[in-house]
Amino acid sequence: MTVELEDVTVHFGRTCALEGFDLSVAAGETVALLGPSGSGKSTALKAVAGFVRPSRGRIRLGGSDVTDLPPAKRGIGVVVQQYALFPHLRVADNVAFGLRAARKPKAEVVRRVGEMLEMVGMTSYARRFPRELSGGQQQRIAIARALAIRPSVLLLDEPLAALDARLRADMLGELQKLRREVPDIAIVYVTHDQSEALVLADRIAVMRDARLVDVAPAADLYAAPPSAFTASFLGGANLLPVETSGDSVKLAGQLVPGLQAARDKSLLCIRPHAIRLESPSRGDEVSGVRVVGRVVAVQWRGAVSQVVCEVDGVGDVRVEVPVDRWVPGVGERVVVALPVEGCSLVPAEAG
Ligand code: ADP
Repeated sequence: MTVELEDVTVHFGRTCALEGFDLSVAAGETVALLGPSGSGKSTALKAVAGFVRPSRGRIRLGGSDVTDLPPAKRGIGVVVQQYALFPHLRVADNVAFGLRAARKPKAEVVRRVGEMLEMVGMTSYARRFPRELSGGQQQRIAIARALAIRPSVLLLDEPLAALDARLRADMLGELQKLRREVPDIAIVYVTHDQSEALVLADRIAVMRDARLVDVAPAADLYAAPPSAFTASFLGGANLLPVETSGDSVKLAGQLVPGLQAARDKSLLCIRPHAIRLESPSRGDEVSGVRVVGRVVAVQWRGAVSQVVCEVDGVGDVRVEVPVDRWVPGVGERVVVALPVEGCSLVPAEAG
């Protein structure tokens, strides 16, 4: 079922938590709302669920206006960060809750609870209480409970945030699997974690200060970010100042081949992993722009080292050097080579 938010605005007292928000999520599609804390992601999700009332705008599910419907009448599955299982109910009764509230026949409740527990791999835990489960297991039950009512829309608000790194990775894999098992459901997934968004979402909606900044397929946003904010929030791109004259774009006085100047675009966007560092004494392996810099910081991070180079007229450039390549030391002069295919231009508004 399609989820549509049209011009949705939400106020909490004098705080505007969501401003003129437009988004449409198709049946079978997963859209991640990604943005820093306080940017309005949860508020957008709560507006869809019916937990907050917009002061302006409409919400439609499958084309029907539900703006004035209470949450229980919307037929939506919701999973939040803190599991929110009923502590006094056993696992099976937690999963059965929504079905019983909808007065489904007993045989159907039993069958559906069985199916759901099997889907999340928790069949043998049916008789336990939530307190007898780990965080990851509780979250699986929360997902089983949300899906038991066969919702056509599933809302997930930071469902993995309370889990440790290892469990988070496991659950991310399970959520991917879940998407294949319920192919027609529309999923809205709130997260501040860009890797979760990149793994799970068909499209990412980037939010900032109560507004939608950009929305596009995850791969497009990553490869060619439309804004400086999205470029740095998603993958920590370098944003380097360029000069333009006519059609040409120059970085530190050097022509950047292949880039077309545009009046409103004056930052060169390049990801740290796309840049190569070379010793000044070595040949040039990379076609593109080559500027000389001085290494001001090196951090070893296992598979890669993060190197910060200071380049005259450009500023700091962050470079990720894979473990099998040459890593310069602090204070060394290096050639910073920017391959043309890794470069794009973005507008220079505050980012
Ligand atoms: P996010 O999910 O991106 O972290 P939220 O949607 O929770 O952001 O919050 C957006 C803004 O609205 C924040 O400034 C937050 O403090 C405010 N806010 C959220 N919920 C409430 C509330 N119940 N009462 C007052 N202010 C709120």
